[in-house]
Amino acid sequence: MPATDDRPLRLVIHGGAGAVRRDRLKPERERVFMQVLAQSLHAGHAVLAAGGSSIDAVIAAIVIMEDSPVFNAGKGAVFSHEGYNELDASIMDGATRMAGAVAAVTTIRNPIRAAHAVMMHSRHVLLIGRGAESFAAEQALEIVEPSYFYTQRRWDQLQKAIAKERITLDHDLDSDSGEENNEKHGTVGAVALDYRGNLAAGTSTGGLTNKRFGRVGDTPIIGAGTYADNQSVAVSATGTGEMFIRSAAGFYTAAQIKLQNKSLFEAADHTLAEIATIGGEGGLIVLNAQGDYTMCFNTSGMFRGVIGNDGVARVGVFSGDESLAVY
Ligand code: ASP
Repeated sequence: MPATDDRPLRLVIHGGAGAVRRDRLKPERERVFMQVLAQSLHAGHAVLAAGGSSIDAVIAAIVIMEDSPVFNAGKGAVFSHEGYNELDASIMDGATRMAGAVAAVTTIRNPIRAAHAVMMHSRHVLLIGRGAESFAAEQALEIVEPSYFYTQRRWDQLQKAIAKERITLDHDLDSDSGEENNEKHGTVGAVALDYRGNLAAGTSTGGLTNKRFGRVGDTPIIGAGTYADNQSVAVSATGTGEMFIRSAAGFYTAAQIKLQNKSLFEAADHTLAEIATIGGEGGLIVLNAQGDYTMCFNTSGMFRGVIGNDGVARVGVFSGDESLAVY
């Protein structure tokens, strides 16, 4: 059933929040980020406009960002201390509150697809490591050699982080600029509303550069990095994962909207303020079943974008949604 204009369709995405400095982001590099964001929005929009589900739109949008080397997810994932790329992802269906997630996987090309397979074809919500990889292989998902995830840029970042004994959320611009403080988190996420009025959310990441001991952040934790409920909102988070877990960021945002009637921005802003009180920072994208949304962050930038019924992709990184460029 094709979508019609009187039913709102919406897809909102992020490609990570952090201390992105305008004077350090080279225009040609910014253009690459914007192009991938726009491609992701158009891929998800195509699903929605054809009458597809919000879940399928979230997957389509995230797969584009996972397959790109520029974001910290899938192909562009950062390295752990031991020199592996350990990937986390989750997805949630707002209509049923079914959810699936994988953590610390090293051979699944598209972790978001594996999270979806867990949701659809297992009795579980979260599978980790080798078990998750065996499950993904059984589900005929694409398995790759760990070397598929190798990129020189990420490898160099790991060497720097090891030399400085830093476990870093930063993965990107510091290597371009040599600036240690130019921090950015490059997790990717998407929230979508389909023509049936169903919400979905998904998030995918490589986590932190130089992470150790099987560290897992908020991304694959339902209620922290990802949450969706048609009765409230769909949420995807990016930022300092430990603090997002401790604040149950996704659920906390949804609960304020459901129980306290807060606006999307008020709720997201409050969640980020709470996270700041325990030393965390980052961003949230939030969408409700009417198609209202917010893209909120307490860092200097968040790669982000939005598309609606008109099929026009709007993308940007710095503050001020009015500054979003049309792609
Ligand atoms: N939240 C992610 C994590 O802690 C990192 C990020 O958003 O860049 O694993």
